[in-house]
Amino acid sequence: MTCSQVKTVQRIIRDLQHLLDNDSYLSQAPGGKPFIAYRKPPNLKQLLTHNNTRTRLNMDTGTRACNKSISQLCCYIHPDSIIIGPNNIKHTISGLFNCSSSNIIYAIKCQQCPSALSIGQIGQTLRQRINGHKSDIRNHKTEKPIGEPFSLPGHYVQDLRVAVLLQKNFRHTLEREIAELQHITKLKAMERPGLNRDIGFMSHYTY
Ligand SMILES: [Zn+2]
Ligand SMILES: [Zn+2]
Repeated sequence: MTCSQVKTVQRIIRDLQHLLDNDSYLSQAPGGKPFIAYRKPPNLKQLLTHNNTRTRLNMDTGTRACNKSISQLCCYIHPDSIIIGPNNIKHTISGLFNCSSSNIIYAIKCQQCPSALSIGQIGQTLRQRINGHKSDIRNHKTEKPIGEPFSLPGHYVQDLRVAVLLQKNFRHTLEREIAELQHITKLKAMERPGLNRDIGFMSHYTY
């Protein structure tokens, strides 16, 4: 019941009070006028943090399936709001994304290797990137960064998982690459079993 609804109820009670007062039996009831108490409804924070704080909060960030029929890619989404990299380094994702998110930094995970992690960037949508990775894996393109680890024995394209780490109004590729590098460094994605083999655009300066 909201505050304004309480006022309406109070008005109705006031208008009908004379029915109680005039009734020989009801007028004997103790307490006189009924009293309406108003309890404030829970706010968003209370709803989100009630009981199981962690699970409820985690529902609010991460990558979600778009469930659009144009993409058969929703099954590759890694929905968790925390990404775990090599050496158990954890990265908390803020923001809510889906297969259509574009201008992003993303993480590739492997269902077979829980601490394996690759960080990438793309100006197009996550959907387009997943399509590219899937085709590299299916065609055993071992020279490609994602094709290689998923060509290992016991690995299938179904082991691929993708999560958006960051979406921003990056103005050009270099800005995205800098953010990509920051995430590679923070999550130590170049340290085995991390999957980033070099630091991408910086590699021509370091090799
Ligand atoms: Zn989707
Ligand atoms: Zn793996």
